[in-house]
Amino acid sequence: MTPLDNTSSQPGIFDRSALVRGLGEAAARLADIVAMQAQDQQRSLYLVGGVLRDLLLGQRSADLDFVIESDASTFARGLQKRYGGQVHAHQPFGTAKWSLSADSADRLGLPLADLPQHIDFARARSETYAEPAALPDTKPGSIVDDMQRRDFSVNALALRLSPNAPYGQLLDACGGLQDLRNQQIRVLHDRSFIDDPTRILRALRFTTRLNFKINAQTAVWLRDALPMLGRVSGARLRKEIDRIMVEKPASEILLRLNDLGALKEIQPGFRPSKRLADDLKRAKEQEPPWQSADIDAPALRWCLLLGAHEDTVARCIAKRLDLNRRQINSVSATCRILAIAEDLADPLRRPSEIAPRLEKLPPTALHAAWLLLHDSSSAQERLRLTMQRWRTIRPCTTGHDLRARGLPPGPHYKRILEQLRSAWIDGDVQSCEAERALLQRLLESGEYAQGDQPSARLL
Ligand code: ATP
Repeated sequence: MTPLDNTSSQPGIFDRSALVRGLGEAAARLADIVAMQAQDQQRSLYLVGGVLRDLLLGQRSADLDFVIESDASTFARGLQKRYGGQVHAHQPFGTAKWSLSADSADRLGLPLADLPQHIDFARARSETYAEPAALPDTKPGSIVDDMQRRDFSVNALALRLSPNAPYGQLLDACGGLQDLRNQQIRVLHDRSFIDDPTRILRALRFTTRLNFKINAQTAVWLRDALPMLGRVSGARLRKEIDRIMVEKPASEILLRLNDLGALKEIQPGFRPSKRLADDLKRAKEQEPPWQSADIDAPALRWCLLLGAHEDTVARCIAKRLDLNRRQINSVSATCRILAIAEDLADPLRRPSEIAPRLEKLPPTALHAAWLLLHDSSSAQERLRLTMQRWRTIRPCTTGHDLRARGLPPGPHYKRILEQLRSAWIDGDVQSCEAERALLQRLLESGEYAQGDQPSARLL
């Protein structure tokens, strides 16, 4: 039995024990403390959004997301004054984030480990869209306005915590409870996807995660709005795809978006690989056999998602989605490694042919390629050798040594030193002495005689 089942016997009421079951004792107590503060200041305060949806479905949730019908940053700062922590306000949207510290947990008398890292407050607002896919213009509004600006009915529920009589009154201005019971994702009006096409990605994310269906009319509006995705900024789309990629059914969501034609509206050629589910799973379970501490997790996911694309296509997608320069470089390098996978696995290719193609590439790309090339142990081995041996090999001879031998400086210094290094990488020399003998042979060969310097003089 979930709290949702209870709402049919006790319409509009959500009891506190359900809050404790969903949030845990400490976070529920924190919600009480926040509610008391609102009560003292005679402010209306509501628990809203995904957390409430999940609580109603009987799922645990770690977030606390509140709407207050007054200034959110003033309210959050009041809590900060009393309980410490940090407040970051974002005035254009009237939102404030209260981050809790160890000191605030002490002052609240609650265990820090059981509390969310931060609590989000937003002033109840209404929104209008001047043009499709633009950011909305907002103005302060009522809780009902705030529910009506939301993406889906199941996310447009509010639990009143202040004034707190009767306790836990559920506000369902958009029919969200019925849709939760019917297990369907429904937008609140016909222009919803046009106003904000990122809701297309969100609709597929929630439908897949919750195993819901999309309401029939919503599905029609969603398809009609697909071309609008082209108008959304890369950063907003990336944020939603980043959120998709940390979902359990990430690849299913992306494949469904692909089948719908949503990804090609974002950027032609954008297509997730059918193996993405396995690749993401492997990324969670396996690590390459080298130290990979400085891996940027979102960048790694992007490499896995885009690695099988052709390099130029992947770069266009990465740029369209406003990935940062380092992420774009990692994605592009992953594509290039995959493109030479056959060479990597070919035993006839000497290590010194392979190393220069790999060793300067970003570690995130080598990590991703190691995961993606799981079915080629020889290619994986060459990636391992790059990271664990080849990258650090330096010949014993330096430019100073060449000079001391009377070789006039020039671009051939680099070539000689590279040749010595290659010999180490291939295992042809294994000591400084052997390297010196090789150097001697190279210089005697006359290959590196320069300009007016007769090769005989070099010896
Ligand atoms: P999750 O369960 O993945 O944390 P969530 O439902 O909490 O997701 P968020 O993206 O954290 O979703 O947003 C919180 C709430 O803000 C949503 O439940 C929804 O009501 C509202 N919201 C978020 N994005 C949009 C949007 N693009 N359009 C309208 N409302 C939105």
